[in-house]
Amino acid sequence: MIEDKNPQRTQLSDLGEFGLIDHLTQHFKIKQSSTLKGIGDDAAVLDFGKKRVVVTTDLLVEGVHFDLSYVPLKHLGYKSIVVNLSDVYAMNAEATQVTVSIAVSNRFPLEALEEIYAGIETAANVYGIDVIGGDTTSSTTGLLISVTAMGTVDAEKEVYRNGAKPNDLLVVSGDVGAAYMGLQVLEREKEVYKVNPNNQPDLEPYTYIIERQLKPEARKDIPQLLAELDVKPTAMIDISDGLSSEIIHICKQSEVGCDLYEEKIPLDPQVISTCEEFDIDSTTVALNGGEDYELLFTISQDDYAKIKANPHLTVIGHIKQASEGLHLVTRADTRIPIKAQGWKNFND
Ligand SMILES: [Mg+2]
Repeated sequence: MIEDKNPQRTQLSDLGEFGLIDHLTQHFKIKQSSTLKGIGDDAAVLDFGKKRVVVTTDLLVEGVHFDLSYVPLKHLGYKSIVVNLSDVYAMNAEATQVTVSIAVSNRFPLEALEEIYAGIETAANVYGIDVIGGDTTSSTTGLLISVTAMGTVDAEKEVYRNGAKPNDLLVVSGDVGAAYMGLQVLEREKEVYKVNPNNQPDLEPYTYIIERQLKPEARKDIPQLLAELDVKPTAMIDISDGLSSEIIHICKQSEVGCDLYEEKIPLDPQVISTCEEFDIDSTTVALNGGEDYELLFTISQDDYAKIKANPHLTVIGHIKQASEGLHLVTRADTRIPIKAQGWKNFND
């Protein structure tokens, strides 16, 4: 429906594997001083000196993680990079390099891969990282994209999921729930399109939430901001699966409990209005929606004054003893246990 129907179709077999890699990566330029050798040898060579190196990898599968009927290929390339960088920033690290591997079936011509790589290149430029290698191969079932991201961090700045302490504050960047509601709108328009392909959807009221779904951004700015504010989180994670699941990860690994305040959860007005339109509870969406790629972290109460006026950060709760459990404190002041997807069932 949104996809650009490019009439040109160059068979991948015309280029060969190495010709294809050269063609797709010819415009990639080295930006990081740690990249000694990028694409073009048997392996990339990186020099991180005395820094810690963080590595993370993700596999995106057509039909499981994305639907090409409404995800433009360029956005898919962009998002495949962003979701990996988000995991690097969640370690309080700086992202530096990625490798990208793609498997495609013969229904994808060269022009489709060029679109994906244009998105990858845009993300590499926006985030200042180098694409240093990867693989391309054929697939019988559809499109697969695997990205590995690398980054560096000073040993004393590294943040894991397991450092939250009782009385720490629970903080989230940006707002949550928008990517999930963007997906609901896109799924609805897909069904409308199936019935009437000539129908032009009016997506104007949903621009923010659709962008959050199709072209999410990773919070590169948050580790930088925290360094400027002289705040080191005690634990941190990125929000890929929804607030409740990420809170559970931090609390389990830190062996603590927490109170999360429903009224504090930051929601964009478009999320609230779209939830009303779809008759979905916005708190359920924030807790269980996912794909927001915001950062969720805990800080010592002593650091509260440093972050309290910041428009990018919201305190949404605090850490308690493990024995006190994990709870959502609702607007009506009732306490509901936080479970992975559990609150949704409770609501039903
Ligand atoms: Mg993560």
